[in-house]
Amino acid sequence: MKEIKFQARLPKQAIDAVDVRYDCACGCKPAARYERGSAQSGSQHCCCGIVHFAGAGAEAQLRLYLQARQADGRDEPGKRYEFGHATVKAPWDEELPVAYAVPGA
Ligand SMILES: [Zn+2]
Ligand SMILES: [Zn+2]
Repeated sequence: MKEIKFQARLPKQAIDAVDVRYDCACGCKPAARYERGSAQSGSQHCCCGIVHFAGAGAEAQLRLYLQARQADGRDEPGKRYEFGHATVKAPWDEELPVAYAVPGA
């Protein structure tokens, strides 16, 4: 699986938040917004099917999200993903986990 390079960007008019984004092969620039100190990671599901979660709990929340999609039929039964991990540095100098899933495999 191709590794995705994530970048942390300070959103306009948001001091305690970060947009974790990448340049997707499909042409989109998906960004997941994470609020500093939140237990909820930010996420974005690209049009091409790649999903990424950034911030506290990213890995677990990505898995729950995909389970929910399977359960309610948004993903076909048995749809497979390849999983990847990364970290980005937030503007407040914290290493944030990023978890992503790429359809296929
Ligand atoms: Zn796209
Ligand atoms: Zn995409």
